[in-house]
Amino acid sequence: MRALDLGRREAELLSWLAAIVDSSDDAIISKDLNGIIQTWNGGAERLFGYRADEVIGKPVTILMPPERLNEEPGILARVRKGQRVDHYETIRRKKDGTLVDISLTVSPICDATGTIVGASKIARDITGQKRRNELLERAVAERTSALRSALEQMEEFSYSVSHDLRAPLRAIDGYAGALLEDYAADLKPTAREYLESIQRSSHRMERLTRDLLDYSRLARGEARLEAVDAHRLVLEIVAHYQEFQLPHSRVTIQGVLPRVMAHETTLGQCVANLLSNAVKFVAPGVQPEILIRGEERDGKVRLWFEDNGIGIPPSQQHRIFAMFERLPGATNYEGTGIGLAVVRKAMDKMGGATGVESEGEGGSRFWLELKSVANHGLHTTANHEATARELAAHSAAA
Ligand code: ADP
Repeated sequence: MRALDLGRREAELLSWLAAIVDSSDDAIISKDLNGIIQTWNGGAERLFGYRADEVIGKPVTILMPPERLNEEPGILARVRKGQRVDHYETIRRKKDGTLVDISLTVSPICDATGTIVGASKIARDITGQKRRNELLERAVAERTSALRSALEQMEEFSYSVSHDLRAPLRAIDGYAGALLEDYAADLKPTAREYLESIQRSSHRMERLTRDLLDYSRLARGEARLEAVDAHRLVLEIVAHYQEFQLPHSRVTIQGVLPRVMAHETTLGQCVANLLSNAVKFVAPGVQPEILIRGEERDGKVRLWFEDNGIGIPPSQQHRIFAMFERLPGATNYEGTGIGLAVVRKAMDKMGGATGVESEGEGGSRFWLELKSVANHGLHTTANHEATARELAAHSAAA
């Protein structure tokens, strides 16, 4: 009686399992170790278009388009070793010849003694999902390109605005100056003050347009990288501006700065901007002191600019590289809020990075990071060039 019950229970369970397999939306197929189809559920019929009696006993390769036939030996080899194939994305062919994107899971089937006798395959139609992904990718690509062209137009626009504003500005400044000089005797003190105010404003606007022009020139231009001797470049910049020299300020270079992969003029602009800020943002009466040093690590070079200025509170540091951002502490100092935006854009253009460290007082430590020359294999090229030059000199002498 118990044995009979057990037999009925098993039969019930089997028909339950068969019903579950048959009602599944996924195609569930089994095959023997030679790849011959053994079972075929309703999902498989719906997905591939073949009825069970049309495919049972046939090789599973009838579902494969010719260019995918090479997948089967690999799948069978894995199954024979008792391994699974999980969510393998591939393409299969339906009865009507159309192709369908599927995600395939194949697992070995064992008999009662544990011997592998075949494999079960679960195939899910992922055509819709693939299509949605493709549409999404296309939409993202289209928007990115629209944004890029909008950005280029904006940069183009700001270039022409800042460029075209300069001539009328110079005229305003020039005529205000002419009035002050040529008609000094006729001007009442208030009229003089007004004219001087016009001049101050036009000077400020001149600085703004110049900085904006620098920014948009940089944004429009291309920054071709080459090996740059950062040490020589920094020395040249320090020598060029009196404000970076004694007695105004003390700029020290520690050791020899490494060579970097950069666009020389663009890097020069960054160095000049950082140094201008470093000598500008100091407390009244303090002589600016700047230490410049290089750090080479993991194929990259960091150039550090450490100052003894007013410092930047950590909570504000993320703001200062954005366009027109000036911190409350900067209102007593001249500026447009564009210098660091130029630095960031420049470093982006050169595939580098920039940042700052400061505890809010006791000065700031700005850094520029670029690829090191050694990492670029340019040392060898440079050596070859040097050797070639030497050889040329020798042969010329001979
Ligand atoms: P600007 O110098 O024209 O004000 P920047 O874009 O160069 O504009 O700098 C943005 C702001 O970052 C400055 O207004 C100032 O608040 C802060 N800053 C930049 N460099 C320093 C520095 N070395 N020390 C302290 N604050 C700085």
